[in-house]
Amino acid sequence: MAIDTQIGQELKRKMTCIVCPTGCQLEVEKNADGKLSIIGFQCRRGEVYAENEITDPRRVLTTTVKIRNASLPLLPVRTTEAIPKELLAKAMEILAQVEVTAPVRTGDVIVTNLLDTGIDVIASRDMKRTEDVA
Ligand code: SF4
Repeated sequence: MAIDTQIGQELKRKMTCIVCPTGCQLEVEKNADGKLSIIGFQCRRGEVYAENEITDPRRVLTTTVKIRNASLPLLPVRTTEAIPKELLAKAMEILAQVEVTAPVRTGDVIVTNLLDTGIDVIASRDMKRTEDVA
């Protein structure tokens, strides 16, 4: 979770780094001239995470889509890379309309070029046809 304080053009944000389980508490300050000052990280990955959270926040989307003729009604899927956070809701709307047919293999592309991001949505697990399940 992030906590923002905005004073004019300046921004202060407190956030937890989610890159590794250590969960460092980061503080990012954006000055009026747009320069970032970051404290609280224990490694470069945390510093990059904080920069990206301010300039281009992204998340890997994991969800499910409907699947026909399979042992389960839903197929777990994920994006191949993190997509802009602002597109997550629209991406969920699109994936709610998707229905695939078994069999599906892990890594099969379910949606190509999601929302023109150049990023695909792929299956996260195998799903056999109902008649192939012993
Ligand atoms: S700053 Fe580095 S050590 Fe701390 S949580 Fe992030 S990745 Fe882990």
